Amino acid sequence: MNGCYEKMTDLLMNKSGKVYFYIDYSQNEWFIANQSAAPECMISERYNPVEAILNSGKITEEDRGLYGDFAGKLYAGTLSCIADIKLKIQFRLNVSDTEQVWYSMELLLGKADDGRITETAGQLYKMSEREIMDRNILHFYTNDRNPWIFASLIENRIKNDRKNNYAFIQFDVVKFKLINDTYGEPIGTELLHHFNDVLSVYCNETQLFSRLSADVFMVVTPYNDIEDIYRFIKGLEKRLSGYNGMKYSFAFGVYLVEDRSVPSRIMGDSAGIARSQIKGNALENIGFYNDSQKKLLKSKKIIEDKMKTALENGEFLMYLQPKYSISDNTIIGAEALVRWNQPGSGIISPSEFIPIFEQNGFIIKLDEYIWECACKLLHKWIELGYKPVPISVNVSRVHLKNTDFIDNIEALVKKYDIPKSMLELEITETIENINANAMVKAAKKHGFTLLMDDFGSSYSSLNTLKSTPFDVLKIDRSFLSSFMESERGQKIISHTIAMSKDIGLGLIAEGVETAEQANFLCDCGCNAAQGFYYSKAIPIEDFERLIEEEQKQKEATS
Ligand code: C2E
Ligand code: MG
Ligand code: MG
Repeated sequence: MNGCYEKMTDLLMNKSGKVYFYIDYSQNEWFIANQSAAPECMISERYNPVEAILNSGKITEEDRGLYGDFAGKLYAGTLSCIADIKLKIQFRLNVSDTEQVWYSMELLLGKADDGRITETAGQLYKMSEREIMDRNILHFYTNDRNPWIFASLIENRIKNDRKNNYAFIQFDVVKFKLINDTYGEPIGTELLHHFNDVLSVYCNETQLFSRLSADVFMVVTPYNDIEDIYRFIKGLEKRLSGYNGMKYSFAFGVYLVEDRSVPSRIMGDSAGIARSQIKGNALENIGFYNDSQKKLLKSKKIIEDKMKTALENGEFLMYLQPKYSISDNTIIGAEALVRWNQPGSGIISPSEFIPIFEQNGFIIKLDEYIWECACKLLHKWIELGYKPVPISVNVSRVHLKNTDFIDNIEALVKKYDIPKSMLELEITETIENINANAMVKAAKKHGFTLLMDDFGSSYSSLNTLKSTPFDVLKIDRSFLSSFMESERGQKIISHTIAMSKDIGLGLIAEGVETAEQANFLCDCGCNAAQGFYYSKAIPIEDFERLIEEEQKQKEATS
């Protein structure tokens, strides 16, 4: 067998180009050639070119480790694939004590019905600089550390290795954005590559790791007792820290596997929850997933299991929270807010399920459903000859990836034949990306009224205001209540109102809970309010009753 290998490498090393080979196992024959040498036919024992390279003593330890198991299975016919196989393996040979050279071997394997290899055609060549570079880039993103492959690897490992306990350890750099801001993005990227390199060396073959996103990494490791985990994390942290004298710290979240039937995605999420809980805690940077987090995850799973049928069964309801003119005390509009009427559990608030739907994408369907409810209701009011008030609907930021949502709303408005001005769109102010900004602009171009929801609840308010063409500001409840507490805060509110009017924006305050707040807002020039002081979000029939009563009062006084 080694004779064949030597022949092959001899052809390759001494003459440039590629070595081609064809092996016919039924005849125990193989042909070998390169561009300059004529094909030679050789009779040999059952020859496995991958194994020959692995046994040559020249391949690097790392690559032998990578392909060893695979080569055996491949030619033993125990790999479970039905079709002929085309594959490429790339490996390094030690050509001298100090020099390694990258080679690529491409193989086409013909198989018999019983899975045994009957013939192999292939080529072997020295890789170009360009190929090596591409490989390194690809390797970084798509080897077994690719999150998808990683998920299936760990699932296999955890299910098959019942002897060991397993822990998921997720970590990230606290305020990684600061590193990019301080040192520049290329240095930030270099640091992440460094982490990857450290993990490659620090983790042994029983420990799997992957970069999940940006600066978030995951390690799955067997352990005996908790001390093992602390020791592992402390050692890792030490090696990861202080790259090129830079200062940064880590947050680690740990999930200890109990029920091995839980999908690995959920286990990983649990480690993520544990990690996010300890963020900002300077004294303790390792968090363990605990019982309350466990409940949260369980309810997440229940919600995910039920959401689709809930939509089909009409369990999601549109409630309306009236918007009032403060000076006239009359209803001037409504916000559509979803409620989940879950059989057996009663009405569930959106804060319990919207964040989950935003994560899993179901919010797209739910929002469209609520938009349609709003359009249907407006259509009914118009048909019945009422003077309808506009309804504002929430547009989750998940929609803002493309313009589809505008087309969908446009289609609904057409279908129910309602004026565009009757359906207003609320978009939360935390619009982080340029794309979202462009979507808001596009919606505006289509003639919709855009409300900037939750204004004042995050640091980006003024920035968003500057760059995005909203029509109306909705002052957030937290902004209102916390700023009302001091004279200085009140001044900020009153100036925000003045500034908004100055630049031609409409205004409404949400979360108005007291007469004092309403009067203060009115004095400052904000005459529209929504909040518990006036009414909570209520079912459609109750809202219609409110409007009717208001109408009757008007008639009585006129
Ligand atoms: P939001 O759009 O800012 O809606 C206002 C929230 O504040 C509503 O909570 C409302 O009930 C509550 N609220 C109004 N006035 C007061 C008050 O005086 N005091 C207090 N403490 N709260 C008040 P809700 O209905 O629980 O909705 C929470 C959030 O869930 C909404 O905030 C919105 O972001 C989201 N949401 C609700 N329905 C939908 C929907 O159909 N689609 C989408 N994408 N998001 C929705
Ligand atoms: Mg809203
Ligand atoms: Mg709001």
